[in-house]
Order: sequence, then C-alpha cells, then structure tokens
Amino acid sequence: SGRPTLTPGLVVATYGRHCMVERADGSRLICHPRGKKSTAVVGDKVLWLPAATGQGEDGTIEKLQPRRNLFYRQDEIRTKSFAANLDQVLILIAAEPEFSETQLSRALIAAEAERISPLIVLNKQDLTEPFDRAWGWLTAYRDMGYRMLPLSLKDGGGTLEAVKAELAGKTTLVLGPSGAGKSTLTNHLVPGALAATREISQALNTGKHTTTSTTWYWVDKEANTALIDSPGFQEFGLHHIDARHLSGLMPDIKPFVERCKFYNCTHLHEPGCGVMAAVKNDGSVGSISDRRYKIYSDLFAELDASKF
Ligand code: GDP
Ligand code: ZN
Repeated sequence: SGRPTLTPGLVVATYGRHCMVERADGSRLICHPRGKKSTAVVGDKVLWLPAATGQGEDGTIEKLQPRRNLFYRQDEIRTKSFAANLDQVLILIAAEPEFSETQLSRALIAAEAERISPLIVLNKQDLTEPFDRAWGWLTAYRDMGYRMLPLSLKDGGGTLEAVKAELAGKTTLVLGPSGAGKSTLTNHLVPGALAATREISQALNTGKHTTTSTTWYWVDKEANTALIDSPGFQEFGLHHIDARHLSGLMPDIKPFVERCKFYNCTHLHEPGCGVMAAVKNDGSVGSISDRRYKIYSDLFAELDASKF
C-alpha cells in the first residue's frame, strides 16, 4: 500500500467549492479543494488525490496547473474567475432580440484583455429584415478586424457547418444574451447536452435539477474540440483591467493614441487628444463612433473607480 499518487484531471463544472473533475478515461468524480481557498475553475487542469476518508467516488484537488488565461464574471458584490485555458470566445448574438452594443463591446474587451481571439456569430439569419439591419450595423466591428459569421440555427446547413469549422480542435467559451440561441446551438453541437447538464447538477448540487454553473462539453473529444457554456452575459468581469490599458483593448481607438500630445493621456479631457479628435459620427473610415467613445469613457470611469 504505497502513497496514493496524484492523478491528472480536467475541471468540467463547478458548484460553490465543489468541482466535477474528468479523468483521462472520461470518467468523472467530485473533488473538493484542499485548504481554504477554492480557485479551480472550468477548464483548469488539476492534480487530485482520492479523499482520505472517501467512501464513494471523491477526491481533493492538490494542485492547479499553470493557466494560459483566466476569465472573470461580476456579480453585485465581487469579481470571480469562472473559466480558464480558452482558445477563443464565441459571442452569440441574434437578429432578435436586440442586443446591447455595450455588452458586445465589454465581451470583446474581456477577450482582448486575455489575448483571446473573439468570434462574433449573428444568429437567426432566417429573420431576413432584422438580420440584415443588425449585420449592416455590425460592419463597424468587421472593420475593427473581428471575425464574424452569420448563422441560422433554424435552417441548419451551411451556416452551422461554417461555425463548426471555426470550433474544430479548440476550447471555445460561448457567451450571449438570453434568447440569442445559446441552448439551441449547444444542443446542435453536443448531442445529449441536456442530459449531461442534468447529471452534473444532480451530482454537484444534490436535489436541485437546474444548473446555473459553467459547464464543459466535448463536441469531439478525439479532435480536442470543446465548448464551455456559461450562463449570463451582463455580468462580465472587467474590474481586473487597468483603466489605462483600456484604449489598447479597443481596436478602433488604439491607433489614435499615438497622436495624443500627452503620453499619459486618458482621452477624457486633455488638450491635443488624438482619440477625441477622431470621434465623429459620420461613419467615415478610421473614425471612432460616439457610441464606442461613450463605451470607452463609461468603462474608464468604472474601472478607475473600482481601484478605490
Ligand atoms: P438562449 O436563451 O440563448 O439559450 O436561446 P434559445 O436557444 O433558448 O433560443 C431562443 C429562441 O430562439 C427559441 O425559441 C429558439 O427556437 C429560437 N431560435 C434559435 N435559433 C433560431 C434561428 O436561427 N432562427 C429563428 N427564427 N429562431 C431561432
Ligand atoms: Zn488622448
């Protein structure tokens, strides 16, 4: 009877301080963190040990492997990490219901801050009129260099295949406002997703049948294709970002910073500001829209205030 050996695992769901960990063979167990701090999030690679007193299938997390990146969410009280080691973020919005440009921008900024490539997907292409309006309006974001794909989950077919192709071999966090089609997309890509979610929430949260926690789904395990589904959109956590770095995370604003007279310009009130000079609402190429500038200045104030 030697000492139990540390076993590698992948965190596939969390509830409070409990984690569901997947072994290499695909089997899963509940792990509890060792010590007071619970820091494991979905996507974390961990080393775990069988619990000393364990009657059933459970263990303790002994070590977190270094992360490539880490995403945060915000509730009324604090910022909490919720997903790690992502390759990309898929922001799912739809022709209907209308989505908020502020939320879209905040999600893009969160991705930029972790140097993750965002993919914007506009769903409900079958709703021709509102779709064309939204797609046209999003031209500004394509001009900023963001990848963007149309989708109709109602029709399936080619547009869904194109989205699938972007996911291949990657770990993708899917975000979106409610009603955009996130559960429909997950169910298209992951047969049995609903049953899996039910199973996880029962195991992690005895008695309750709905989960509001972040969940890992394999789309194709052999190809290393995975989705991380996380409820909510509004509460994206940005407070770990330094306000002074914000302009560098907005591709339409970034190029103008070098025209500012002062190297430490906040682009809010300084004379000779290259950013403020570029704020126009005539849609001219290489200008900054009023809306994006307002998103910048509001978020700057929010981030600056959160330091104190
Ligand atoms: P979630 O809140 O983001 O999970 O959104 P759901 O997946 O529940 O979808 C919201 C509604 O939009 C449902 O009634 C879906 O049937 C509908 N929906 C999803 N995709 C499409 C689409 O491509 N076209 C249309 N017309 N409706 C869709
Ligand atoms: Zn400036």
